[in-house]
Amino acid sequence: MSAFQVDPWNKCLNTTLFEEDREMFHLIEEEKFRQFSGLELIASENFTSRAVMEANGSCLTNKYSEGLPGARYYGGNEIVDQVEELCRGRALQAFHLSPERWGVNVQPYSGSTANFAAFTGMIKPFDRIMGLDLPSGGHLTHGYQTAKKKISSSSIYFQSMPYQVDCNTGLIDYDRLEENAKLFRPQILICGASAYPRDWDFQRLRSIADQHGAYLMCDMAHISGLVAAQVVNNPFELCDVVTTTTHKTLRGPRAGLIFFRRGNEDPKHVDLETRINQAVFPSCQGGPHNHTIAAIAVALKQVATPEFKEYAMQVKKNSSTLSQELQKLGYKIVTEGTENHIVLWDLRPIKLTGSKLEKVCDLCSITINKNAVHGDVSALSPGGVRLGASSLTSRSLREKDFVSVAAFLHRAVQIALKVQESAPSKLLKDFVKDLDKNNDILDLKAEVQSYARSFPMPGFDPSEIRRRNDYQ
Ligand code: PLP
Repeated sequence: MSAFQVDPWNKCLNTTLFEEDREMFHLIEEEKFRQFSGLELIASENFTSRAVMEANGSCLTNKYSEGLPGARYYGGNEIVDQVEELCRGRALQAFHLSPERWGVNVQPYSGSTANFAAFTGMIKPFDRIMGLDLPSGGHLTHGYQTAKKKISSSSIYFQSMPYQVDCNTGLIDYDRLEENAKLFRPQILICGASAYPRDWDFQRLRSIADQHGAYLMCDMAHISGLVAAQVVNNPFELCDVVTTTTHKTLRGPRAGLIFFRRGNEDPKHVDLETRINQAVFPSCQGGPHNHTIAAIAVALKQVATPEFKEYAMQVKKNSSTLSQELQKLGYKIVTEGTENHIVLWDLRPIKLTGSKLEKVCDLCSITINKNAVHGDVSALSPGGVRLGASSLTSRSLREKDFVSVAAFLHRAVQIALKVQESAPSKLLKDFVKDLDKNNDILDLKAEVQSYARSFPMPGFDPSEIRRRNDYQ
């Protein structure tokens, strides 16, 4: 057998996806087509770059590297160490942090695991945490539980007492939070959210945390791109620990990061750095995903550019335009505006649910998600939808384009109201019956798709998408 002959059982190792697995190739191409043909308004998503996807799909996926650079449990990590060091350095740079005062762990697989590892590093099981309640816009991992059930592991393994937004204004009720904190005496006060359109008052939060000797942790997952671009309040000025996902406004691959104060800045002088690093591995995770870490590093290089700052400023202008246009059309926007990429739309005044509008929009190639708005009674049928401007800004839409996006959404609402009126009951199952054959929906879908396809697509060339008819 010559050195170049491949064993038959290894032949599959060098074939392309197209040759090897037509079924999966087809699904990925269809997803590309869907992304290119629609208006993506999910606030937690973005379109990452071609370079990020290249790194994410690289041979680094083959490598095990438990531990940290220079202290691994496996051999062969001389390159991977450099990849992780580069990523750590860029993470600090992107957020304007000095390595003397801040450290970062770049290994969390996602935002949820980053949060759980951060808690594990800071406190003991059954210690007390306070985060924004899920129905108020907080994230599951900030201690979510219902009256009947502890839902998130953050409420199963820690005692949780959430705080809420004011039910009239939709703004965080800091006074009530302060009162409740006096009774609950949290060990960690968590800020950051999944559906909060306003800036955070870090000064007020710091003062509440200090009354109880609590850590102040910010989960800036949604706004981290805006933080890096310095267009929202900066959690690093006053928080002890900051976590984030890397795939929302930060526009990287799917993963998480944990930043912690170090050296003289260590808030309780307990070597938080070691505790958080050990919480990530070995407490909560195994081997890091080196391909993802490389991809995060590529994204962070992009984040540190003046162009990214322009992007972030445009995101804010676009979300603000979207909010204003919907208000001009007579709709109720929670907190009457936005200071970040999120617009939270209260549909209750027009007697429509978030689920129904989401369904109609889906069929029209507009992607949004139903979302609780303060005062909602049913978590299963929330009264609002959450919109975000980050993805479409990555497709180069500007303010005037968001005027058109608002008009498309307005048409979707009108269709939804018409369908609801003629449906035999208010139930979702009656509402969705034959929805895909509705002519108004088909017309709107055609217009939305042709509009969406008129904008550039990050990450891949739409003219190279291969649909089934092209090769069958
Ligand atoms: N934290 C916040 C504020 C989020 O909004 C999310 C996800 O949407 C997460 C954490 C969890 O991130 P992941 O889905 O990567 O686990």
